[in-house]
Amino acid sequence: MATSNQVRAKIESFARQLAEEFGEIDEEGALSWLDAIETRAVEIGDAVTTELLKKQSADRPVEEESKCSKCGRLGRYKGQRERELVGRRGPVPISEAEYFCPSCRRSFFPEYASDRR
Ligand SMILES: [Zn+2]
Repeated sequence: MATSNQVRAKIESFARQLAEEFGEIDEEGALSWLDAIETRAVEIGDAVTTELLKKQSADRPVEEESKCSKCGRLGRYKGQRERELVGRRGPVPISEAEYFCPSCRRSFFPEYASDRR
């Protein structure tokens, strides 16, 4: 994973804080002590991913108009819509810009067109 030194330093600091906060690791239900730590770390990674997707999708700048993929005319920005996206590690909530095309009389979501397969 390519991370800048600044981000790496933040991750190290965050991991140190978490380790102090967690204290003793509960091995119950885990294969081993390391397995218990890894399980917890994966859960934290998933939670960080969810928060980053939520925050960055909500903060994305929006245009007042966007081209309708069906007819090519301009549709007007209608507002943000919350949606659950299926990410690599499961469902994650995102916010996306919704536009309305008066010609097609339908809403469309241009930003995530590549996510729809
Ligand atoms: Zn249209």
